[in-house]
Amino acid sequence: MNRGAVAEIDLSAISSNLKSAKKMAQNKDIIAVVKADAYGHGSVEVSKRLIKDGADFLSVAFCEEAKELRNAGIEIPLIVLFDPDPADIIKYNLIPVISDLKTAMALSKEAEKRHKEIKIHIKVDTGMGRLGIIDDVAKNILEIANLRGIMIDGIMSHFSESDSEDSTFSHYQIARFNNLKKELSAIGLNVKRFHMANSAAIISLPESHFDAVRPGLMIYGISPFEDSCSTITPAKCSCWDFSLIPAMSLKTRLVVLRKVPYGTPISYGKTFVTKRESLIGVISIGYADGFCRLFSNNADVLVRGKRIPVVGKVCMDLTMIDLTEIQDVVSHNDEVIIIGKQGSETIKAVELAQRANTISYEILTSLGRMAKKSYKN
Ligand SMILES: *Cc1c(COP(=O)(O)O)cnc(C)c1O
Repeated sequence: MNRGAVAEIDLSAISSNLKSAKKMAQNKDIIAVVKADAYGHGSVEVSKRLIKDGADFLSVAFCEEAKELRNAGIEIPLIVLFDPDPADIIKYNLIPVISDLKTAMALSKEAEKRHKEIKIHIKVDTGMGRLGIIDDVAKNILEIANLRGIMIDGIMSHFSESDSEDSTFSHYQIARFNNLKKELSAIGLNVKRFHMANSAAIISLPESHFDAVRPGLMIYGISPFEDSCSTITPAKCSCWDFSLIPAMSLKTRLVVLRKVPYGTPISYGKTFVTKRESLIGVISIGYADGFCRLFSNNADVLVRGKRIPVVGKVCMDLTMIDLTEIQDVVSHNDEVIIIGKQGSETIKAVELAQRANTISYEILTSLGRMAKKSYKN
């Protein structure tokens, strides 16, 4: 039996999306975000492609992820967003994001001991309420700048709601970041790059682009505005063709076909009972593959180019679908599309996200990370 789902990753879509991000950001440095296994797309393969296509930096959440990239032979500057472990930072030549003086001092000590200079990016909290220096920001940065063995290569911040139709708070964050930049410059501290834009800000807030941008979701071909059903259109830019191409298709197989009579309960808890003689298919994907239980009686898949409903509860490794409408054409082992195109039908990540009351980010990371990957160029 063919177990689980396969994520087909179209690397040419990744190339095209990176190009779009670059155009949108008017050739500012690109810090491509490949955390969470490149949003479920496979960080090694995706990173190699992004480097080939001219990404300036890659960025991951933890040193563990950076280590995997280094071990795969990736040599580009790597920013680690949430894990400034001095030993790993030095060993793998990584750029940590630092959110406080104490961590900077620990790094400085380690760097001195080993006669190394560590490049760092400093995070400041302009309103996200997660990480970053929040008090006496300029003073703290100046103290960090004076530490030995450390070089401030960038200063960054992160948006709380750059995908919102109301940009008031984003503009407040941009203003705070701009003020900091001025303040630092006034005390003679000129840092090479300032950056704060994620995908939504790249698309809709050109004033947030500063010296570099950090695209994540858009690299994978999804607009953050799909999730919020926002009517926001990209900022005007003559060179911009707003067409992101989803890079991931998720497929599985029909492993069992069964004709069952009227009144047959399907799956755990009998939440679906056939209302006619039915052809029920069993597909090899379940909640252990990230196909979450909220899709029970609440998602479509594509088979033979038609939308086919999930019936009954999603199980750990299996899910049932009602193929009665296409019983004359369907066969054992037919391909089943969970995300992607077949014939003239398409199921997008955002469709699944809306059914599960979440966002595309979570759909991609949970389904993609579990799936076997296959890459096409
Ligand atoms: C994940 C992340 C990004 C990318 O965000 P997208 O919305 O996926 O573009 C950028 N910056 C930081 C700090 C992040 O954690």
